[in-house]
Amino acid sequence: MTYVIAGSCVKDDVCVEVCPVDCIHPKPGDPDFETAEQLYIDPEICIDCDACVEACPVNAIYADFELPEKDRDSLDLNALFFAERAVAK
Ligand code: SF4
Ligand code: SF4
Repeated sequence: MTYVIAGSCVKDDVCVEVCPVDCIHPKPGDPDFETAEQLYIDPEICIDCDACVEACPVNAIYADFELPEKDRDSLDLNALFFAERAVAK
């Protein structure tokens, strides 16, 4: 499984600070931070620790199996962000 950020993310960067494995991107200062519509969790690296869920002020983060129906596409969107980043490198 993985944790997933949904579209209600307000890009305040709080989850980035608490993630122990640095798998939430883009980060402030990254070239793609300003243009990103939200932050994303790398499903290959997330260790399902739950720290980000507690930290998020707008409850935008879910375990994949707990994603609300309206946010199901966020699972693919999070993974796609990192797939596209890998290609761009
Ligand atoms: S669940 Fe843990 S490892 Fe996964 S993104 Fe959140 S803080 Fe990082
Ligand atoms: S803490 Fe929540 S609102 Fe803030 S950047 Fe992370 S997912 Fe987005």
